[in-house]
Amino acid sequence: MSVSIDLSPRTRAKAPVPPASADERPSLIGMTRDELAVALADCGVAERQVRMRVRQLWHWLYVRGVGEFDAMRNVSKELREALSVRYTIARPEIVDEQVSNDGTRKWLMRFPARGAGRPVDVETVYIPEEGRGTLCVSSQVGCTLTCSFCHTGTQRLVRNLTAGEILSQILLARDRLGDFPDRDTPDGAIVPAEGRRVSNVVMMGMGEPLYNFEHVKTALLIASDGDGLSLSKRRITLSTSGVVPEIYRTGEEIGVMLAISLHAVRDELRDELVPINKKYPLEQLMQACRDYPGVSNARRITFEYVMLKGVNDSPADARALVKLLKGIPAKINLIPFNPWPGSAYECSDWEQIETFADIVNHAGYASPIRTPRGRDILAACGQLKSQSERMRKKDRVAATGSAEAAATG
Ligand code: SF4
Repeated sequence: MSVSIDLSPRTRAKAPVPPASADERPSLIGMTRDELAVALADCGVAERQVRMRVRQLWHWLYVRGVGEFDAMRNVSKELREALSVRYTIARPEIVDEQVSNDGTRKWLMRFPARGAGRPVDVETVYIPEEGRGTLCVSSQVGCTLTCSFCHTGTQRLVRNLTAGEILSQILLARDRLGDFPDRDTPDGAIVPAEGRRVSNVVMMGMGEPLYNFEHVKTALLIASDGDGLSLSKRRITLSTSGVVPEIYRTGEEIGVMLAISLHAVRDELRDELVPINKKYPLEQLMQACRDYPGVSNARRITFEYVMLKGVNDSPADARALVKLLKGIPAKINLIPFNPWPGSAYECSDWEQIETFADIVNHAGYASPIRTPRGRDILAACGQLKSQSERMRKKDRVAATGSAEAAATG
């Protein structure tokens, strides 16, 4: 059952879809410093002032987290006006916000249309835990890959998110959680007792981040910039299904922590569960992991392994997993499968998961069984699928009365 939080306009908002032409202004959020310099020069800022103005904008956008030009108090009125005519720094619209019984939050965010396209909806999830708050960020609307256990994989790719849209998910979450100066934490919110509300970011939401490499790279370099959001690269994890060439680029050009959506230890089964395996089989994937820059016992690669009853959860699979990861500083996350409507799998029995975990732990790998979070609001791993897609399906079913439409997603 979904649990919606209080329905005041501050925490739950519904608004009509703006027309595609509503706001064609590009966002300053997600621009590199060089791009900001060009934007400022376009607004008439003298060359000798550009660097100073870039520093000011960066501070307002990423340290103070402002969402309107008028809040930039040390920027002249003329420049604020010139900027606002050409650019926007607005946050995405919040279409829905849900809070799970366990404190997990899921936002459905709507980004304006780009070009001839339509507005798009994206889900972002916040998971508070002891001492940390992790934000699970989306990189694409839908996904081209069709991992058979994943709900997002049933939604066709609509488009890649821009660097600004990826960053905006972090900014909006920090707004809502009171993680910027002058912002309040919602009453009763479960957040870390000390430090940042959003302390960690995982690129593990909708989409395959390495199929949107340039935008993800720009966004993560801005997120980890020490003069702005200042998230340590050790607290940013990029999760991939195994796009091997871009794993090498991630290590060299971004330098964040790596997670692999593994789920099977034999090519035959992985071809079925994670079909990109047909293109980049396990041997190539494991080599890319061994070669990942900076990987060490202090900077382990995380391997995600969803527990599917009777599919990949036998003791023999556990032993094969240990063998496969030999020599790679690794952490294994065992994920009890989170069912979604129409999925073909069941979650492994708890005893089976514990037996599996024992074998892996005994071999020296830290392998926590990830407690399912946000299940009641379909916010758990592999369950993300935009609300608009669900609504469209509902409409199709209502229009046709077709059980087939209901089953195909
Ligand atoms: S697991 Fe990731 S890559 Fe695979 S279908 Fe789901 S969102 Fe796409």
